[in-house]
Amino acid sequence: NKPTVIIIGRPNVGKSTLFNRLVGKKLALVDDQPGVTRDRRMGDAEIAGMEFTVVDTAGWEDEDDASLPGRMRKQTEVSIDDADAAMFVIDARAGITPMDEEIARWLREQEVPVVLVANKAEGKAAEAGILESYSLGLGEPLGVSAEHGEGIADLFGGLWPII
Ligand code: GDP
Ligand code: MG
Repeated sequence: NKPTVIIIGRPNVGKSTLFNRLVGKKLALVDDQPGVTRDRRMGDAEIAGMEFTVVDTAGWEDEDDASLPGRMRKQTEVSIDDADAAMFVIDARAGITPMDEEIARWLREQEVPVVLVANKAEGKAAEAGILESYSLGLGEPLGVSAEHGEGIADLFGGLWPII
């Protein structure tokens, strides 16, 4: 049975781009408009021989009538409770926002092990955001560029010990 890794993060940080990069196909819709993913959200991923099922999430941010896990359950087939690990994605160019902090607080209360992924890490504009993300209390950020395919192999080191 393959482990399941769920991708969490606020809108527009690049969750669907990372999902597509890991799956190697464009199964998820990438858009500049937040929360537009309304298509397939599960796929087979492989990094250096490590196989797992990856789950994209979106849309749960918009509904405020339920708890975070409840909203997520509505939008994905897999919830955080079913996942073996979570990749918490932040936008290293934008830096840490109040919503990132809210999600981080919630994630720290969950049982699931978390890998902090600082996306959009190509170039110097990301350096400050990567450093800032240590303040989330979720360990060392792994800098990646989902769009350019940089740092993806380094996710292996973050995921391998926990899945
Ligand atoms: P989601 O809402 O978290 O699923 O984010 P998307 O995957 O839809 O991406 C939101 C925007 O960020 C799109 O315009 C992407 O092209 C852009 N994006 C995603 N990954 C990267 C990256 O590594 N670097 C940069 N510069 N932009 C990215
Ligand atoms: Mg998306």
